[in-house]
Amino acid sequence: MPGMFLKSMKWLMNPNSPLYIKPSLSLDLASWLFNFTKAMNETQARRAVECLVVLSQKSLTEYENLAKKYPEIRFEQKGLLMVSRTPAGVASAVEELNYVKDMNVPGKELNSDDIQAMEPALKLPLLGGVYFSQEAMGEPYLVVQAMAKEIRAHGGEIMENTELHDLVVENNRVSKVLTSQGEIEAKQVIMATGSWSKDLARMMRLRVPILGGKGYAMIVPPLEKQPKYPMMLVEKKIAITPRQNSLRIAGTLELVDQDFSITQRRVKNIEKGAREFLHVPENLQVQELWAGLRPCTPDGVPLIGYHRQISNLVVAAGHQMLGLQSGAGTGLLVADLVEGKKPFVDTAVLDVNRF
Ligand SMILES: Cc1cc2nc3c(=O)[nH]c(=O)nc-3n(C[C@H](O)[C@H](O)[C@H](O)COP(=O)(O)OP(=O)(O)OC[C@H]3O[C@@H](n4cnc5c(N)ncnc54)[C@H](O)[C@@H]3O)c2cc1C
Repeated sequence: MPGMFLKSMKWLMNPNSPLYIKPSLSLDLASWLFNFTKAMNETQARRAVECLVVLSQKSLTEYENLAKKYPEIRFEQKGLLMVSRTPAGVASAVEELNYVKDMNVPGKELNSDDIQAMEPALKLPLLGGVYFSQEAMGEPYLVVQAMAKEIRAHGGEIMENTELHDLVVENNRVSKVLTSQGEIEAKQVIMATGSWSKDLARMMRLRVPILGGKGYAMIVPPLEKQPKYPMMLVEKKIAITPRQNSLRIAGTLELVDQDFSITQRRVKNIEKGAREFLHVPENLQVQELWAGLRPCTPDGVPLIGYHRQISNLVVAAGHQMLGLQSGAGTGLLVADLVEGKKPFVDTAVLDVNRF
């Protein structure tokens, strides 16, 4: 988004902010930051949002269909509430609404009274926000398990606990993949390895500029005043997800690459931010705490498509904080590319070779 540079700089100066970049002398980080800065313009942002909306809408339909067969994935289309207590936060939520309102994404601006009426679990005062009615939620692990069942039902094989060690490239093609379970002849290779893609691509001497953006998620018992809606606490960059018997509180983006360590201060900041908006008990019992890496590209758009240097390699990685939201659509797009069909989305913006 335009204007992110100044905002990011301010956040970087504040140890309690939701953004952190691990200082490093690496060329990967320098080049990533250079391209990140270059992408912060209106034209680029609009093209990126358009493409992400199409991928997400395709995914939504797919999850709806998956839920008909696998209701256990707990697909619910309750919408998403973006709430804020500051003028800057409200402006940022409204800006997001303005970006997508012409793209068939229904949303409406709300004042404090509207939000209170919709979501009494929120503490006052509030200033305003936006409600996107089409947004949906599901249980990620159960979604992945349902997809695995579908793959197997369609004759696909999933090799569990298998590590890819190397890829053999001959005549600009991957001819074999070497795994902990032996060699596999390669006809078509789809690299969908999230934050690990940069290092795997390097085995083939390719550059795939994806860095790991660490985030934390806490699973806590349901609150006495449990929220009804999934919410984004805008200025805190904290996502709240009400689950069947718990609540998920997630946030923070630490650009660290491959590092899964947990920084307690940042976890406490997420808890503190949630407490400002919700009735979180003083002695909060965290049932589960995990850190995950969001595969981040410099311009906020995934890398999807054939790599120009390897004729049978499709990359499908770099989905950042929208991997579930846009994952199913990505699968359909990759299928179109491999089958030589006309893709349903403008693939130029997703071009793997654009950096
Ligand atoms: C705290 C947090 C909250 C989030 N919330 C949301 C949300 O609400 N909605 C949303 O849409 N997204 C969310 N995300 C983002 C989402 O998790 C990612 O976008 C998504 O996981 C990316 O999917 P992926 O399949 O590309 O990569 P990954 O999920 O990272 O999967 C890559 C896989 O490749 C495997 N792999 C890597 N190297 C090898 C190898 N050599 N051999 C074998 N396997 C290998 C890894 O083990 C891994 O399983 C969140 C992320 C975090 C951290």
